Amino acid sequence: MTSHTLPSYLDPNHLGPWGIYLQQVDRVTPYLGSLARWVETLKRPKRALIVDIPIELDNGTIAHYEGYRVQHNLSRGPGKGGVRYHQDVTLSEVMALSAWMSIKNAAVNVPYGGAKGGIRVDPKTLSTAELERLTRRYTSEIGIIIGPSKDIPAPDVNTNGQVMAWMMDTYSMNTGATATGVVTGKPVDIGGSLGRVEATGRGVFTVGVEAAKLTGLTIAGARVAVQGFGNVGGTAGKLFAEAGAKVVAVQDHTGTIHNDRGLDVPALLEHVRKTGGVGGFAGADVMAKDEFWGVACDILIPAALEGQITKDNAGKIQAKLVIEGANGPTTPEADDILNDKGVLVLPDVIANAGGVTVSYFEWVQDFSSFFWTEDEINARLVRIMQNAFAAVWQVAQENKVSLRTATFIVSCKRILHAREVRGLYP
Ligand code: NAD
Repeated sequence: MTSHTLPSYLDPNHLGPWGIYLQQVDRVTPYLGSLARWVETLKRPKRALIVDIPIELDNGTIAHYEGYRVQHNLSRGPGKGGVRYHQDVTLSEVMALSAWMSIKNAAVNVPYGGAKGGIRVDPKTLSTAELERLTRRYTSEIGIIIGPSKDIPAPDVNTNGQVMAWMMDTYSMNTGATATGVVTGKPVDIGGSLGRVEATGRGVFTVGVEAAKLTGLTIAGARVAVQGFGNVGGTAGKLFAEAGAKVVAVQDHTGTIHNDRGLDVPALLEHVRKTGGVGGFAGADVMAKDEFWGVACDILIPAALEGQITKDNAGKIQAKLVIEGANGPTTPEADDILNDKGVLVLPDVIANAGGVTVSYFEWVQDFSSFFWTEDEINARLVRIMQNAFAAVWQVAQENKVSLRTATFIVSCKRILHAREVRGLYP
């Protein structure tokens, strides 16, 4: 992107997540043919809501938190995307995450637009009762734009099934009828789907297996390093280990651990469940934080936060395959370094789309009040991920572009085609 096309609020030297997304759109514009006429649609969120969330803390004081819900694009259907609770959440970040949801939903061809939400809060500083009050007030504030056929939130970093249950209940109380389909990622007893908790990690594993087949990498015995051992990284690590791979290094916010012979993944998951992180795990050596990126491995799975693989550490990466479980973990400069080194990057917008795919199944099941078995769900998930990955792979080969650019080409065309046939209102 040339700086004169940057929106006035972006500093060209510090693009931030939204600036990075705009650059990604600029990269694919030459491949959009006549649909490029509509590309400006992708560079502006359709709607962004900033809300004040006042809550009474347990000690009687009143605290105010800032919350957001951004609907990036609704051309293909209702908005869909998670809600993040983190002290570093910004509007720019939520805008970018909502845009990546538009791209992701189009990549796996589920009938949704893209949306995302967040609250600028460190939830670890709140009691459960405070967290519930925060969630309920946030849900009420964004209640004017969400709904089962308008915009459907889901869990993201630091939110979970319990938070979704509070959101569903608050929305239902406000509208006077139980609306299970207003959020996904709910507990199974209140309209959640089997397989949803593991879906994103399963999708990461599925595309990893497909890419390994195409590049001649054998999963059995492959060395895997994972950053972030929560919902996504923990599940992906477990599935790779079950397939015979060796998970040799794991990093999370509590530490970095390493075991050349392969970590005992079920024991590590149990340790994380009990203690909240990988730090202090007995069956591993401690590794310096910065050494993680240079660890000898075949597959690297960033599954924590964005902006982790940068121009400063990309050169050290030894993996042949990087599978982006997290959203936006690789900066554009790092992406170029990895491509130049011949590292195959499976981008977030396809690699972590398993979560939203099973969210879609949950929403469909809620509408019909008819629930599928876990085997059916996993089989459909794997089929969708395999087909989506094959389509993106083909576009990458045809145009000699990276898989990220190929995914953007496929998705931007789908979104802009929907925009074009719907036409402008009024
Ligand atoms: P989670 O809260 O379950 O886990 C987050 C993990 O990241 C934890 O292991 C945490 O310790 C680690 N982490 C946090 N800060 C870190 C730091 N500074 N350095 C190293 N590790 C750190 O969250 P999750 O649901 O697994 O989400 C992880 C990523 O995957 C996010 O980018 C999220 O947007 C993305 N994602 C999640 C889903 C989903 O269904 N949960 C779907 C698509 C994408």
